[in-house]
Amino acid sequence: MNLDQLKDTPHRRFNPLTREWIVVSPHRTQRPWQGKVEKTQVEDSVPYDPDCYLCPGNARAGGAHNPRYSSTFVFENDYAALLPNPAEVAMEHDDLLLAGTERGICRVGCFSPRHDLTIPRMSVPELRSAVDMWIEQFNDLGSREWVQHVQIFENRGAMMGASNPHPHCQIWATAHLPNQVIREQAAMKEYAGKHRSCLLCDYLRLEGDLSQRVVCENDCFLVVVPFWALWPFETLLLSKRHVESIADLENNERDLLGEILKQITTRYDNLFEVAFPYSMGFHQRPTDHQHHPESHLHAHFYPPLLRSATIQKFMVGFEMLGTPQRDITPEAAAERLQSLPQVHFRDRA
Ligand SMILES: [Zn+2]
Ligand SMILES: [Zn+2]
Ligand SMILES: [Zn+2]
Repeated sequence: MNLDQLKDTPHRRFNPLTREWIVVSPHRTQRPWQGKVEKTQVEDSVPYDPDCYLCPGNARAGGAHNPRYSSTFVFENDYAALLPNPAEVAMEHDDLLLAGTERGICRVGCFSPRHDLTIPRMSVPELRSAVDMWIEQFNDLGSREWVQHVQIFENRGAMMGASNPHPHCQIWATAHLPNQVIREQAAMKEYAGKHRSCLLCDYLRLEGDLSQRVVCENDCFLVVVPFWALWPFETLLLSKRHVESIADLENNERDLLGEILKQITTRYDNLFEVAFPYSMGFHQRPTDHQHHPESHLHAHFYPPLLRSATIQKFMVGFEMLGTPQRDITPEAAAERLQSLPQVHFRDRA
């Protein structure tokens, strides 16, 4: 089977991580970027905003004040979705009405004191500080007896529901594994049992050999538009070495994680010359105090934009009720991302 057959014929593709299918309809848009690329106004951003609840020294809801931090800064979310000590609840009614307690800790982590600096425009040493912050949080929260999983994620842009442009992430520690993690862990475990190897190590090798969907890489990480990508410019960031978590990364790998994040987000911003919205997050081993040789550190980027800075993909209709579908092929998306300049459009002379 060759890739040419998939280029203009509607078909379906399998996601081995979630074990779900997606539908690809490349015949609908033979030339996906023929439409006008609209440039939206780049907001005038200031390094410090007196009204921002994340900037150093500012007041937050509930009266707390941020310290005058100079690197990264983590605090418990003032509007936490989960609480560390909620009242115990339980309901089990005929296998139909089921409910139970969910314990959690929700934190916010600022990448930088600068209100206007986003990942693509931060320096590699500044990004290293963010990586160190993630590792510290993973170790701190993950070592608690009741915490089974630590989810680190970033919502970027108003389109993804992020109301504040100050660069920050969220860290949610939970007493149960989240749904997506349950699925991926089960798939990776079953694959490891069947093949005596790691699903993502094998996939990494395959994508490296084929060179059809690789967007960028460095010595320790590779970013690919996965064969089964659902969002138009979805990417998967993979550690080249089999490590179960960010805490297992060695010194130079920690630097290079910052570097690869800068590479991929710069390409994203350059695509439509806007601050490209996305949800991204790391998947790594659960912290349930079990052994997880099947886990392989990776990150998913799920950006909603389709053809321009203002046209987004919606998951509606058949996608809500049936199977998700995409138009441009993952290969075409990878080619497009790969061809972009590596210097951020706002930093060009
Ligand atoms: Zn701010
Ligand atoms: Zn692996
Ligand atoms: Zn994953």
